[in-house]
Order: sequence, then structure tokens, then C-alpha cells
Amino acid sequence: MDTALARAWVQAIAAAMDTHQDRLTQLDSAIGDADHGANMHRGFAAVAAALPQDDAATPGAVLARTGSLLISVVGGASGPLYGSAFRSLGTALDAAEVPGAAGPTGGTAAGPEQVAGALAAGLAGVRRLGAAAEGDKTMIDAFAPALMAFRTSAEAGADLAQAAAAAADAAEQGMRATTPMQARKGRASYLGARSVGHQDPGATSTALIFRALADTAAA
Ligand code: ADP
Ligand code: MG
Ligand code: MG
Repeated sequence: MDTALARAWVQAIAAAMDTHQDRLTQLDSAIGDADHGANMHRGFAAVAAALPQDDAATPGAVLARTGSLLISVVGGASGPLYGSAFRSLGTALDAAEVPGAAGPTGGTAAGPEQVAGALAAGLAGVRRLGAAAEGDKTMIDAFAPALMAFRTSAEAGADLAQAAAAAADAAEQGMRATTPMQARKGRASYLGARSVGHQDPGATSTALIFRALADTAAA
């Protein structure tokens, strides 16, 4: 992953949040407060507007800046959670970058194994802040299987696009698997058993984020 790919990824996320805003809000209206689409849209629109003027010179800096913007622009649970995910991801990626592996666009570039490590740091950031475990019906239920699939692919020698495609498939599967779960974290947990039978909004936005990475890396 180089700086251009990191920038293209967050732009693709912004486009996906625009396209799927109503769907995310609809999901959040069933088990939350009907603002997840607006939250994600507002956050990534701010990122998409700010990044072209930003002088972030490494992929890690782009993603860390994305996280900081999400924290400052998005309220609710998802702003700080995604904010800390992107900040942790970016910081880890900067620490792992491989000097001299620059692509045609310049800057430094991280390989699939470094990206896997950075994604693990991102997930750890969400866990640290939200204290949710797999099965609690949150974004973790998409993020954790996505990371596992990404890492398994990367270790087997897949390139970034292949690893990201495997991660996106796993995230979508994890997202669908939240439907029968009873929420144990976040607003949806207030509903108790009535949260069963609805797909989690945050797991859905996480799947969009991984699909955006797969699409960007394949382009
Ligand atoms: P809010 O619930 O504050 O309105 P959003 O609607 O934007 O915030 O985001 C809700 C999503 O945040 C949930 O669908 C869930 O995936 C995620 N979420 C909530 N609490 C947690 C937590 N403690 N850990 C991980 N994810 C969480
Ligand atoms: Mg909400
Ligand atoms: Mg809210």
C-alpha cells in the first residue's frame, strides 16, 4: 500500500457511504437511533474534502489523519471507534513501512503482511475502546473475520488485492452472521432479545470499508 492507494481507499469509502447511507440508517433505525448512515456519511465526506489539501506523505499518515478527522467530526459510538481504528492502523503502517519499496507514485509502500499487521492494530484499537468481543453484534463481528482472512491470504503469498478481496468476503459473511445475534454492546443492547433478527449497522459499514479496499487495490 502506497500513499496514492491509501488516499484512493478513503475516497472509495466516502463514495460507498454516500451510496449506502440510507441502508445504514435503515439498519440503525431497527436497533438503534437511525443515525449510522448520517454519521458515516458526515465523517467520510469530511475526510474526502480535507485529504486533497492535506500533505500526508505516507499511507500511514493518510490513514491516521482519517482517524483523527472521524473522531472530530462524528459523534456517537462509531466516530471514536472508527477514529481509533484508522489512527491505530495508520500509526502501525507508518512504523512498518518499507523504505525503498516506493511505487510509481512515490512515497513508501507497505506489503500485504505489513498491512495485515496494521489492520490488527486497527482492530485492537476498536477492542481497546469499545471492549466488545466477537458475538456481541458489533463492527467487531465483521472486522475480526476480515482480518483473519486477510492475514491468512497474505501469509499464503497473496498480493494486496487478493488479500483484500478475501477480507471483504469474510467481512460480508461476518456482517450477515450478526442478524441472529443478540446485541451485548452499544445502543442495540438496550433492546435485549428484540435486537435479534436485525443486521448490525456497524458490521455493515465495516464490510463496506473492506469492500472499498478490495475494489481500490484491484483497480
Ligand atoms: P450510536 O450507536 O452512538 O448512534 P452509530 O449508530 O453511528 O452510533 O454506530 C452504531 C454501531 O457502532 C453499532 O451498530 C455497532 O456496530 C458499533 N458499536 C457500538 N458499540 C460498540 C462497541 N462497544 N464496540 C464496537 N462496536 C460498537
Ligand atoms: Mg446510531
Ligand atoms: Mg447516535
